[in-house]
Amino acid sequence: MGAQIIDGKAFAAQVRGQVAEHVATLKDNHGITPGLAVVLVGEDPASQVYVRSKGKMTVEVGMNSYEHKLDVDTSEADLLALIDQLNADPAVHGILVQLPLPGHLNEDLVINSIDPAKDVDGFHISNVGLLGTGQKSMVPCTPLGCLMMLRDHHGSLSGLDAVVVGRSNIVGKPMAQLLLGDSCTVTIAHSRTKDLPDVVRRADIVVAAVGRPEMVPGDWIKPGATVIDVGINRIDAPEKGEGKTRLVGDVHYESAAAVAGAITPVPGGVGPMTIACLLANTLTAACRANGLPEPEGLTA
Ligand code: NAP
Repeated sequence: MGAQIIDGKAFAAQVRGQVAEHVATLKDNHGITPGLAVVLVGEDPASQVYVRSKGKMTVEVGMNSYEHKLDVDTSEADLLALIDQLNADPAVHGILVQLPLPGHLNEDLVINSIDPAKDVDGFHISNVGLLGTGQKSMVPCTPLGCLMMLRDHHGSLSGLDAVVVGRSNIVGKPMAQLLLGDSCTVTIAHSRTKDLPDVVRRADIVVAAVGRPEMVPGDWIKPGATVIDVGINRIDAPEKGEGKTRLVGDVHYESAAAVAGAITPVPGGVGPMTIACLLANTLTAACRANGLPEPEGLTA
């Protein structure tokens, strides 16, 4: 295997360390403790795991964590009332509503009721518009984590050809905006893209955010390209025993690593960066709310 492995786990630990240092300084010099409120509606097992681990890491970097667990049949009015209360609470600098929400709740309405300055997921339409027009915004955590790893690996991204496979609002589109902001030549590919292998083959940077296990094989990768694999897919792993599973990305790791210049593994690549960036966004929101300079290198 030729590719350098981009160690997202180690990088995320470094980012969390930077966040913790800034939090300590905010407390010592200004008496401010950043606070992150996470709202979970219902008992989706995967969401419960995410929320628990977000809460744990929030506390580990010295921030306050506020968890709000609501019944699966919570009404939209009650959820919106809670968000209003969090919007008005000066101790809360970041608000995250864990998605997906139960079917009777309008996700767009709920997300757009969060104060954009506290929208640490970066999904509010104001933040989407600000990012699209190159203005200061809250940036979605997963693409922000990808951008940080790419900047760290390449230094400047200017002029590089980037192909983002996937056009979701939470990963593909904001990823493309961020790469454009760093002066890449950006192509967004999706399920209707013609000649996808050829499109991917011309990329210096490939970001795969598809949700299809190992869909991108090594022979789609230009030799020396950087591959960021956002996909998290659970597949059967009979080799580990009956009923066992394992996680794979959207890229076929072994074949891609043989030709790429650098690649993120799954697990241990993009995944850990997402929570680190959530903490970074909460810190950024706390600094902005108090008119203080933002930490260097932790925002787009
Ligand atoms: P999504 O909303 O389902 O979007 C998937 C995108 O992939 C769509 O734009 C779709 O195209 C495109 N696509 C599907 N099949 C394709 C094909 N055969 N060829 C080309 N494009 C195809 O997914 P998402 O929320 O962006 O997530 C993508 C993956 O990232 C998932 O595995 C998810 O678990 C993972 N993820 C990881 C993190 C993390 O922290 N690491 C965070 C978020 C998501 P159309 O628009 O044409 O349908």
